[in-house]
Amino acid sequence: MCKPTPVPSLNASHSGIPTRLEKEAQATKEKTYSLKTLPDSVPRKHPVKLPPNTSQENFDLAITELRKSLVNNDAVEINDKPLVDGWYMEHPNTHDAFHIADQEKLVCSAVAYPSSVEEVQEIVRWANRYLIPIYPISMGRNLGYGGAAPRVPGSVVVDLGREMNKVLRINGENASCMVEPGVSYFKLYEEVQKSGFPLWIDVPDVGGGSVLGNALDRGVGYTPYGDHFANHCGMEIVLPDGSLLRTGMGSLPGPNGDDNPTWESFQHSFGPSIDGLFTQSNFGIVTKMGFWLMPATEHQSYMITFPEEEQFGQIVDAIRPLALKRVLGNIPQLRHAIQELAVTGRPRTDWYSGSGPLPRDVVRDSISKLPVGNISWIFYGTQYGDATSITSQLSLIKKEFAKIAGSKFYLPSDLPPDHYIHSRVEVCSGIPSIRELSWLNWKPNAAHLFFSPITPTNSSDATKIHHLITTLHEKWGFDLFPTLCIAGREIHYITNIVYDRSDAEEKARARKMMKEMIDAAAQEGFGEYRTHLLFADQVAGTYDWGGGALMRFHEVIKDVLDPNGILAPGRNGIWPRGLS
Ligand code: ADP
Repeated sequence: MCKPTPVPSLNASHSGIPTRLEKEAQATKEKTYSLKTLPDSVPRKHPVKLPPNTSQENFDLAITELRKSLVNNDAVEINDKPLVDGWYMEHPNTHDAFHIADQEKLVCSAVAYPSSVEEVQEIVRWANRYLIPIYPISMGRNLGYGGAAPRVPGSVVVDLGREMNKVLRINGENASCMVEPGVSYFKLYEEVQKSGFPLWIDVPDVGGGSVLGNALDRGVGYTPYGDHFANHCGMEIVLPDGSLLRTGMGSLPGPNGDDNPTWESFQHSFGPSIDGLFTQSNFGIVTKMGFWLMPATEHQSYMITFPEEEQFGQIVDAIRPLALKRVLGNIPQLRHAIQELAVTGRPRTDWYSGSGPLPRDVVRDSISKLPVGNISWIFYGTQYGDATSITSQLSLIKKEFAKIAGSKFYLPSDLPPDHYIHSRVEVCSGIPSIRELSWLNWKPNAAHLFFSPITPTNSSDATKIHHLITTLHEKWGFDLFPTLCIAGREIHYITNIVYDRSDAEEKARARKMMKEMIDAAAQEGFGEYRTHLLFADQVAGTYDWGGGALMRFHEVIKDVLDPNGILAPGRNGIWPRGLS
């Protein structure tokens, strides 16, 4: 195999890797490619996928006009080349890199790259004239939920990030920033460092996503500012008719034509709070978004292990009061022992060569050889504040978990330098990382799909969903990778379904399992907080209290704002009139 090309750097591309992570990214790429059996690309089975109800002639006409209205010569690309999945740092904007169906199922017809808010407005007006659906992405790294793919094949993807990727301001006093869509966590981190302000950003598990895009999809991170939407402040939005809106205090003009001085300070304006309408929806294209940054502080990450599978409920019940009383500093993660194997970056075949899910005794034997020994569950937490308060918080936490037989408490210094905890230390103190990608060595051509239901934080509900998911993973033959983000009142139970993209049968099984899990969870009253494009209709359909009152509300708004149904039709199950 020839050596993979260098990973693009952040200096060269908005979606690149910062210098400090170049070596690690290159090694990750080499490892990923060494396990790949699929060719980089295969000839397309179908030519360009045209937008629905659009003839080739009209499409050509429309594209010619679009090209004329955008300033850059290369502002429109037709999606007619072989599809390349690439890898995390070099992901496509033409389709879902982690295709869970056929690679060509969710393709766009073309990609447009606006370079200003005015050009975004131009594109929206153009889409209304030609009745061509458009699909905005910021960075397009929403992998596991559909990546950069549009819900309606043949839509024109509006890739905002390539040209609109500035950190517009960082306010050290107010501890806030304002960003454009193409600002990744990697970039925001570098810019905050350069500013010299003692501030942290909050990052999800991997740092290549768009700060704005992740918040719009209501993603989470792991510092005390981990709820990304809750910590946004102010938006600028191009509506589906091409008009421009600012929310929050941004709706009140600042003096001398400046932005309002409190835009990034107060989330609301006067009257209804509408920002939430633009998350997980298709009501507008967000072109700017403000975020609060956390004042830097001392911090201490730690890990607690538990020996028995059956202690799951007890662990959840121990977390609840600590989280409710805000003794826990962040939203901690509870992971199963099998993840401890996966984050080593070693392939599944290193542990087991049989088919079907890894048997429990194999997990036990394998994990026993690692520094944590024979365990079933691992809790990763971090405490914040000055040294004295961290010490007193930790003594409360240790006391509670010590009640669970056989639990063991570790500080990062207790574990070898290559242990995953050191990456947790970074992520939980706002330093974007790529270590989490090591999971993708589990299988050749690996991709993943998330199943992410929300449950109340108590042992009986958590055990119910855990049992349901475990049973269905066994039935459909998948290893179970549960990561639970546990708050005081609710758990994001995130299951990472890892599959081989070259294996159509395995992908079909993953889809069937997903569908069955969504329905089975809904019957118990559990719904997903977010899902892959292909399952959005099903998930939306489970939120049907009052004869579907919520979806009726969404559809009324959709039809008023977007009567031609051009903006991301079908996203989150919201279809315009006549297109459901
Ligand atoms: P990331 O790279 O952070 O994972 P994406 O750019 O893929 O994020 O965004 C996640 C999803 O949010 C997209 O698939 C799209 O549906 C929606 N989205 C992203 N950016 C915007 C935007 N600026 N305006 C409206 N919706 C957006």
